[in-house]
This record gives sequence, structure tokens and C-alpha cells, in this order.
Amino acid sequence: MHEYSLVQGLFDEVAAQAAARGATAVRKVTVGLGELAGVDPELFATAFMTFRPASPYPDAELSLRLVEAVWVCAGCAAPFQRGAVLRCQACGAPGRLAAGDELILERIEMEVPEPHALRPESTERAHTGD
Ligand SMILES: [Zn+2]
Repeated sequence: MHEYSLVQGLFDEVAAQAAARGATAVRKVTVGLGELAGVDPELFATAFMTFRPASPYPDAELSLRLVEAVWVCAGCAAPFQRGAVLRCQACGAPGRLAAGDELILERIEMEVPEPHALRPESTERAHTGD
């Protein structure tokens, strides 16, 4: 099931972004999932729960945002009605998928230490010593 390798990749990306911001915890991960991405949302969620305990972020929640497929004309960019024939009524050009085949990490809610917590303790004592 490729959902498992996708979730593994997702955790890698989350870990990289969390590390880049010095996050101590990840609360929630929001993923945009297109209906034509070829990913089963339930399997994806199951895979997330399977990976989570062994990940650096065992408390991270998954929020899946399902994205409907959107077709537009490849010639004149006119939007197609949902379920319509994929050929433009206006110019006859075929349809082009504008949205709905994506799997995107949209948002990470993470805990980042307050800046003052990172300040070395010695700076606070500088004028009170001696
Ligand atoms: Zn057209």
C-alpha cells in the first residue's frame, strides 16, 4: 500500500520543518488530499496512526482536507462543470486538471520555545553579579 510510504515521507517533511524552526512538539498536521491523487483517505489516516507512535511526534493529529477535482479548458481556461464532458463547449479544447491530484503538506501546528527561553541565563545575571 503506497499510503504507508506517503505517510513516511510526510513525517520526514514534518520533521525537517519542525527541526528548522526548533520546534519541541508537533500538535497537528494538515494535509490537502485531492480526490484524484490516487490516495485512499482512510488508508492514509490509518497509516498516519500506525507511524505516529514511533515518530518524533507521537501526539501529532492529522487533519485531512479533501480537495475536489477541478477541470478547466486547456485552450481558453474556461471552468468545466463538475461531471461535464471534458471538452470545452466554447473552443473544443480538452480539459486540463487544475486541482484535485495533489497531496500537499499544508500546515504544521508546532510548539516552538519562546525566544526568552532560548536566551542564555548568563545575560540575565550580567548586571546583578559581583
Ligand atoms: Zn475552451
